[in-house]
Amino acid sequence: MAIIGIDLGTTNSLAVVWENGEAKIIKNRLGSELTPSVVSVDEGKILVGQPAKERLVTHPEQTAAAFKRDMGTKKKYKLGEYIFSPEELSSLVISKLKEDAEAYLGEAVEEVIISVPAYFNNDQRYATKTAAKLAGIPCERIVNEPSAAALSCRMKEGEQDQTVLVVDFGGGTLDVSVVECFENIVEIQTIAGDNHLGGKDFDEVIAKQFCKENHIDWEKMEAKEKAILLRRAEKCKMELTESESAELHYRYQGNAYSFVFTSDLLIEISAELFLKLKTVMSKAIRDSGRMPTDITDVLPVGGTCKMPVVREYLAHLFRKPVEELPSGDRVVALGLGVYCGIKQQQGEIKDVLMTDVCPFSLGTDIYNPQNPAWPIMSVIIERNTVLPVKASHIYTTTSEAPYMDIYQGEGYYAHENIKLGGIGINDIPNEFKGKRLTLELIFAYDINGILDVTMRVKETGQEKNITIVSENNPMTSEDIADSQERIKRLNFVDEEENQAFIALAKRIYEESVGEVRGQAERILFHFLNVLKSNSPIRIKKTREEFLPYLNQLETYVEEDIFEREKWMEEEWEGTHVLESKGE
Ligand code: ADP
Ligand code: MG
Repeated sequence: MAIIGIDLGTTNSLAVVWENGEAKIIKNRLGSELTPSVVSVDEGKILVGQPAKERLVTHPEQTAAAFKRDMGTKKKYKLGEYIFSPEELSSLVISKLKEDAEAYLGEAVEEVIISVPAYFNNDQRYATKTAAKLAGIPCERIVNEPSAAALSCRMKEGEQDQTVLVVDFGGGTLDVSVVECFENIVEIQTIAGDNHLGGKDFDEVIAKQFCKENHIDWEKMEAKEKAILLRRAEKCKMELTESESAELHYRYQGNAYSFVFTSDLLIEISAELFLKLKTVMSKAIRDSGRMPTDITDVLPVGGTCKMPVVREYLAHLFRKPVEELPSGDRVVALGLGVYCGIKQQQGEIKDVLMTDVCPFSLGTDIYNPQNPAWPIMSVIIERNTVLPVKASHIYTTTSEAPYMDIYQGEGYYAHENIKLGGIGINDIPNEFKGKRLTLELIFAYDINGILDVTMRVKETGQEKNITIVSENNPMTSEDIADSQERIKRLNFVDEEENQAFIALAKRIYEESVGEVRGQAERILFHFLNVLKSNSPIRIKKTREEFLPYLNQLETYVEEDIFEREKWMEEEWEGTHVLESKGE
């Protein structure tokens, strides 16, 4: 059975397989590893890849590019007389890569693993799965691009512990993640990103500056003229990667214009883009709870990281050299290839455990005593919790038909977040109506970013369960059954070692007083907090760090008990109630 990985990029897409013990990128039939993510319609025929990219300039009205940015939205693309959704356009790219892969492999491709930016939300992930389905191959697993990148580099770097900052700067998106590699675990700990920042923005800045210098009105240019100028601007940008200056030539309304760009000018006119880049970096670092200097490696991934000015800026932010990767724009695909190998359980790599995190907080709205019109967000799953995760909160209500909305986001007030849906129970038996009810809300978020919500009423034993169905991409009943099956297999973290650790801390707490008890309490509190992160690395490290202390405390308690027992045994031996009374 052939499984391929597809790095479905905004600009370029790649297909990869695991072959003879390594990830191998499949060349398309034109002999290139990169297939531009561009679709064009030519007299009823569909073109995908390089030929379509050429038509971006000659036939912009019949050609679509960068549609990945609109995945999960209702936007439609009109190519000539045909109308396409972003998922349909993506499915055409997937079909093309699949055909090329089948031609290379000489067998049918039965499954695909697709990477998406870690910052993609539910709708965008559903849309990606739908695209694969439309292309006729099932996609059971979606992998975050930075996870794939880290995995591919991990395989080369070997075993030492690292805290890696993966900076994936592509054509249309920026994705930054803090990845911890510890023993055989590759764990994404923090993600941050900007779905609307990429190499295209540098092209636009250059094109607009060119117009400004030559007194051309950018706004008045036609789509086709803009497309040509943007293409020249991209070429100029790439030249600046190789040398200090580059000249841009362009003919407009019969006149020949030109302008020389330098790296310094590029930095100056891109100030706003660098500011956006910095904002994303500081969010990633802040969320990781680390200092920028704690990062052991900065991994520049994606075509835009080829720009020396970008790498220099990163080096400046993190105070360490950021060297170009030999295959920067292929790293994600290579990691996907490793993932295909893991999936096929081949050789020694099957032992690597790769985890992903939830990119946003999930919760419900609760009463705000200060301003009842503005309910507050009560977070049930915090952002950056390791997936899959199941978490619950208890709420109370006196409502006769309890109902709670479900939100995604970081806003303090519920209305500042995205409403995903709601869950309620409206047949509360009469004898409970008007009484105080205890509601348990359980959120289960699976590895593909599908949310399953259960509401339980403790007093009546009633229960309701829903899978959050995206408004833009309704799931089929078979998808829902699939996801529910997976979610059933999820459990609250209750691994034996953790339970043993908790039990030990609790016993010491119960058996001791004073300072020993205080210390046991602090360790227990801290550990329970770490458990909530669901992060195997953090949990394991905390256990390893505190177990010796607990063991030490236990010897104190035991010595204490032993001393007391011994004293009582010796002193009280043979002492009868009557004797003591008699004395
Ligand atoms: P995506 O993952 O979004 O599909 P890629 O990682 O393939 O994108 O990066 C594409 C972007 O990288 C484009 O904006 C392209 O202009 C830019 N790029 C590619 N090569 C270079 C280069 N040598 N110098 C500067 N930018 C480059
Ligand atoms: Mg990419």
